[in-house]
Formats: sequence, C-alpha cells, structure tokens
Amino acid sequence: MTTHVSGQVPVALTIATSDPSGGAGIQADLKTFSALGAYGTAVLVALTAQNTRGVTGIHVLPTEFIAEQVDTLVSDVRVDAVKIGMLADATVVHTVAEALRRHRDRLPSVVLDPVMVASSGDRLLTEDAVALVRTELLPLAGLVTPNLPEAAALLGTSPARTPAEVERQAAELRALGVPRVLLKGGHGDDPEESADLYLDADGAEWLRAPRIHTRHTHGTGCTLSSAIAALRPQRPDWRTAVVGAKDYLTAALAAADSLDVGGGHGPVHH
Ligand code: PLP
Repeated sequence: MTTHVSGQVPVALTIATSDPSGGAGIQADLKTFSALGAYGTAVLVALTAQNTRGVTGIHVLPTEFIAEQVDTLVSDVRVDAVKIGMLADATVVHTVAEALRRHRDRLPSVVLDPVMVASSGDRLLTEDAVALVRTELLPLAGLVTPNLPEAAALLGTSPARTPAEVERQAAELRALGVPRVLLKGGHGDDPEESADLYLDADGAEWLRAPRIHTRHTHGTGCTLSSAIAALRPQRPDWRTAVVGAKDYLTAALAAADSLDVGGGHGPVHH
C-alpha cells in the first residue's frame, strides 16, 4: 500500500450519500480511497434508491445524527483529508458547514464536490440549497470541483462556452473565498479532449486528457474529487494531487466498458 509522507497510511473521510448501484456516492469514494492507498472513512448524510438508469428516491438522515457521526469519528480518528459530495438539501449543507467549523483543526484539506444534478437528470441538491453552498461551504473548502453547469449555478449565470469564460468563472468562484478551483470541462463539447482548468493563487493551468468515448460515466465526479482527497496527503501540493487524480479518473473511464453493471449509464471501473 502507498504510504503517507509521514510514513503512515493517510486517512480520508467522505461526507456524502449512498448509491446502492456502487458507481457514485460513498461507494465510489471508498473504492477510490482504497485504490489510491488511503484508508477510507465515511459519514453518510442521505441514502438514494438508485440504479444506473436513475434515482427513484432520496432519504435524508436527521441532521443531529449527521453531526453526531462527525463528532464521534473525529474524537477518535485522525483525518488527513476530506471529500464532501452529495448533500441533498439546505439543512444538510448547514449541518456539514457547522461540523467543518466546529472541527477546523481536525478536518484539513477539504475537497468540495458541489453535486447538484446527476447525469441521469435527477436533482441531487434542492435549488434553495445552492446559495447556502456558495455562502457557507465554499469558504471552508481548500478546493472546489464544479463541472460547467455547477459553476454556473454557483455564480447565478449560464455555463461557460469558451476557454476565456471558463477562466473568468473560475476566478469569480475564487473571489467567493475558496483558494483553489478545478473547473471540469467534461460537460463541454470538444470530441477530442476533456480539459479542466485548475486555478490557485499562482495562476491558472489547463489540464488536458484525451476524451474517453464511453457511455459508462456514472460516478466520474465522485471519483475525481475523492481521488484528490486520497492523494493530497501523499503529494507535495494540491496541483500535483489534482493531476494524479485526473490520471486515475482517465484510467477508470478507459476501463469502464469492461464492466457489465446495469442497463443505463454504467459506472467507471476502479
Ligand atoms: N448518486 C450519488 C449518491 C452521488 O453522489 C452522485 C454524484 O455525486 C450521483 C448519484 C450522480 O452521479 P453521476 O452524475 O456521475 O451519474
């Protein structure tokens, strides 16, 4: 197993939602953590009833119990990096933000994946919660990983269509208080490559990878953000963790067609 720079296996925490089909959510996060040499821990905030064709139901856990899971975990277990995924509604967003504030020293290196709508078209975050993600969660994250529609929703504008617009929206997100932005271009229409923009205090850099032609893309966003959380404690800085995570996702997408899971948009293969 890969070791942490201090000689220990890093501990990664995902705060997210269950996907019983195993392709996205908590299940994808834990598989990614293991594959990349981190020990995975998980706080569930909600459950979905879901397969590769879509989401039929969402059951949100009581907020006091979400808070209790975090408090109990961090009172005992050292956490080296955190990934935040699907949060379902405004009460959960607020509860998670409060937990991050309460345990600032114990929950470092927070990767915020601002999950809003599944590729199946199902809503995974209520509309009224988007503003709360912007005001409460963004300033607590070390990195935010929106796709083009999520970045637009956070900024209250329409999705970027040109590289210059992507660069401008990433800068606008940074101005909202998050130090680093990875604006994912996978929803763009370039048939040859998938280009993501990484922006931090040192400037912007385009990260390019060949576009993998598969319809099995379920869980790509979850996989990328949890790969960053797994790698951050094992890499010298955020940028190299992001580059390593993108390489991991490209390989998982390339292997997706070897899986036969469900009749819809199947999962990527870890
Ligand atoms: N279900 C859960 C629990 C998720 O967290 C996510 C994405 O974060 C999805 C479904 C949607 O995954 P995708 O859009 O990759 O199909």
